[in-house]
Amino acid sequence: MLIKQLRLSGFKSFVEPSTLRIEPGLTGVVGPNGCGKSNLLEAIRWVMGENSPKSMRSGGMEDVIFAGTATRPPRDFAEVVLSAQDDNGEDLEVVRRIERGAGSAYRVNGSDVRAKDVALTFADAATGAHSPALVSQGKIAQVIAAKPVERRMMLEEAAGIAGLHVRRRDAESKLRSTEKNLERLEDLMAGLD
Ligand code: ATP
Repeated sequence: MLIKQLRLSGFKSFVEPSTLRIEPGLTGVVGPNGCGKSNLLEAIRWVMGENSPKSMRSGGMEDVIFAGTATRPPRDFAEVVLSAQDDNGEDLEVVRRIERGAGSAYRVNGSDVRAKDVALTFADAATGAHSPALVSQGKIAQVIAAKPVERRMMLEEAAGIAGLHVRRRDAESKLRSTEKNLERLEDLMAGLD
């Protein structure tokens, strides 16, 4: 997958709609302390479905919405649009929007989808909110200090097989409920004899 563009509106310090074009090759973001470099990386993670307050450096879900300054009122919503090209060359547009009091909603190519669908789309493409391709401050030290099981999770993300664990859990839960239904059916049939 090739991430081509990021559009932010009301997300953290990006109060005005801002567009970041990501050209082929290595992209570096430079600027003075506190100008919003890490917020950009967090926007990519967030649109991919990240909710962990630690990853987002926030206390609650709504903390990603522009909180206002001495001269600007807070915003009611935050929106991030990620434009990409999938491995088949097809355009992909993923939108995540959060409104105060109303939670998050996702759209992929104009259709409403669940958070899980977005996370699986990125996990299958060997990218996603926990992708090793997104290198934030302190990440290198974290990789070096990681326990073997954590390092395995990083490798699984990189290999694009992280989504398989989610699918396996779903399939196991379906299997368990089908087994219960079968047992119930057998009981009912035994009652008919
Ligand atoms: P450094 O180089 O110091 O790591 P940085 O360029 O990575 O800095 P960020 O950490 O991305 O900067 O941005 C921090 C800025 O974002 C702070 O000024 C903070 O006040 C602002 N900020 C974060 N969340 C919000 C929010 N919800 N509303 C308004 N501003 C926010």
